[in-house]
Amino acid sequence: MSDNFDVIVIGGGPGGYPFAIRAAQLGMKALCIDNWVNHDGTYSFGGTCLNAGCIPSKALLESSELFHRAQHEFDVHGIGVGTVALDLKKMIDRKTAVSKANSGGVQMLFKGNKVTGLFGTGKLLGGGKVEYTDHDGKKDTYSAKHIVIATGSAPVNLTKIAPFDGERVVDSWGALEFTEVPKKLGIIGAGVIGVELGSVWSRLGSETVILEALPSFLPMVDAAISKEALRQLTKQKLDIRLGAKVLSAKIGKNEVAVEYEQDGEKKSISFDKLIVAVGRRPYTEGLGCEVAGVKLDERGFVKIDAHYKTSAEGIYAVGDVTGGAMLAHKAIEEGVVLAEQLAGEKSEVNYKAVPSVIYTNPEIAWVGLSEEQATKEGFEIKTGSSPFAANGRARAMEATPGMIKFISDAKTDRVLGVHMIGPYVSELLAEAVLALEFGATTEDIQLTMHGHPTLSETFHEAALAVDGHAIHSANKPKKAKA
Ligand code: FAD
Ligand code: NAD
Repeated sequence: MSDNFDVIVIGGGPGGYPFAIRAAQLGMKALCIDNWVNHDGTYSFGGTCLNAGCIPSKALLESSELFHRAQHEFDVHGIGVGTVALDLKKMIDRKTAVSKANSGGVQMLFKGNKVTGLFGTGKLLGGGKVEYTDHDGKKDTYSAKHIVIATGSAPVNLTKIAPFDGERVVDSWGALEFTEVPKKLGIIGAGVIGVELGSVWSRLGSETVILEALPSFLPMVDAAISKEALRQLTKQKLDIRLGAKVLSAKIGKNEVAVEYEQDGEKKSISFDKLIVAVGRRPYTEGLGCEVAGVKLDERGFVKIDAHYKTSAEGIYAVGDVTGGAMLAHKAIEEGVVLAEQLAGEKSEVNYKAVPSVIYTNPEIAWVGLSEEQATKEGFEIKTGSSPFAANGRARAMEATPGMIKFISDAKTDRVLGVHMIGPYVSELLAEAVLALEFGATTEDIQLTMHGHPTLSETFHEAALAVDGHAIHSANKPKKAKA
C-alpha cells in the first residue's frame, strides 16, 4: 500500500483536473489518476476536451474558417491572394500542437498547486481505496477520505447500424485526424459535433451530407435561431437531411454505402468517410462501480444527489459521467464546487445559467429558456430581437447574418433566456449569462451603455426591442403570451 491522500479523483478531464487543483488550493492532499492515451502513444491530462474535443475541434474550425475566408471573402476587402493552397498535414499538426500545449499546461498547474498526477487507470476497491495500474501494468493501492469519479464519456457506437472501423466509419476523434480531405463526407447526427465537424470539412472541400433522425434541427435552441442556422448552413452547402433514419452502413473497398429512410422512402448514398456523431455515453468501464456500491441509472450514468454524492459513502461524481449537459465548463464548475463543498464552503452550480455555444459560422449561442421552453413552462413572456444587419461593426466585418433574441418574463421583466446566432456570439454570450446569474431585468440591460461600434450593441438593441424601444432596428415586440 502506498500513500494516503485526502482526495483521489479518477479522470483528469475538465471535471477531474480542476477538482484536484481546487482541492489542493484548499489545503487537501490531492491525487489525480488519468488513463488518456493519444493516437501517437503519448499520455496527457485534459481528457476528451483538451485531447480530442473542444480544443482540437476549435483549432480546426479556426484554420478551416481562415482557409474559407481567404478563398471567398478577402476579395470583397480588395485583397487578392491568388490561389489559396491547403497543407492539410500542417493544419492537423498545428491542431495537435495546440492540444498538447493545453494538456501540458495541466501538468504545470498540477506542479504549481502540488497535486500528484499519475498516468494510468484507477479502479474503485471500496472502503476508501483505489487500485492504480500504470501503463506498464504495475499496480499500487491508494486510499483517501473522499474519492471522485470524473471518468467522462465516450462516443455512442451504432454497433448494429454503422459500427466504427476507425478507417471509413469514424467517431469525432477520428474525424479530427483525416489525412486527406474526403471528397464525399457523410455524417450521422446533426447535433453539435455533426454541424461543427461538418463545417470544418465542408470548408476544406468535402461534399458534406448530414443525416439527422429528428424532423427538427437543433431543437434545444430557440426556433427562430435554429431556423436561421439551418438557412445559413444550407447556404454554405452543408446538405442537412432531417427526418433521415439511417438503416445500415456497409463498408466497401473504397466507400461506405449508407441506406436510410426519409418520408417513408428508402434511399441510398455513398461516402468516402462516415462520421458517426449521435451523442456520447457515460464511461465507467472497468471502474469497479459494482464492487464499491456505486449505483448507475438505466442509461449508465452515475447516480448522484445535489452534492455530487453517489450511493457509496465517500464517493462522489462530476462531469459527463453524471449526465445533464455534456459540456466542459459544466464539468469544470462541478469539480470546483465539489472541492469547495468538501472543504466546508457553501458553493453551488447554477444550472439555470449554463452557457451553450456551437462554433459554426455564424456561431450559435444561448443561455436560459427558449421561447418554446418558456411558454411550455407556463411563463407569460415578452420577446424582442435585433439583427446583426443593423449593426455597424458587423457590416464593417462583412458579418451581418444572424440576430440576438431576448425571452423575458412579461410580469417581472426578468430575463429568462437569450438566444443568438451571429459573429462572435460565443463571446457576447457572457453578458447574457451574467444577466441570468444576477437575475437581471430586461430594463437593467436597456439602461446599460454599450460601446460603439461593437457587436454588443445588438445585445442592447435586442433588449430594447423587447419593449419596443430599439433605435437601429425594427421593433416587433411580442407581449404577454400565455
Ligand atoms: P472527459 O473529458 O471525458 O475526461 C475523462 C477522463 O477520464 C479521460 O481522460 C479518460 O481517459 C479518463 N478515464 C476514464 N476512465 C478512467 C479510469 N478508470 N482511470 C483513469 N482515468 C480514466 N464541450 C464544451 O463545453 N465546449 C466545446 O466546444 C466542446 N467541444 C467538443 C468537441 C468534441 C469533438 C467532443 C467529443 C466534445 C466536446 N465537448 C465540448 C464536450 C467536452 O469535451 C466534455 O463535456 C468534457 O470533456 C467532459 O469532461 P469530463 O472531465 O467529465 O470527461
Ligand atoms: P448531440 O446530442 O448534440 O447530437 C446527436 C444528434 O444525433 C441528435 O440530433 C440526434 O437526434 C441525432 N441522432 C441520434 N441517433 C441518430 C441516428 N441513429 N441517426 C441519425 N441521427 C441520430 O451529440 P453529439 O453531436 O454527438 O455531441 C456529443 C456531446 O458533446 C454533446 O452533448 C455536446 O454537448 C458535446 N459537444 C459540445 C460542443 C460544444 O459545446 N460546442 C461541441 C461538440 C460536442
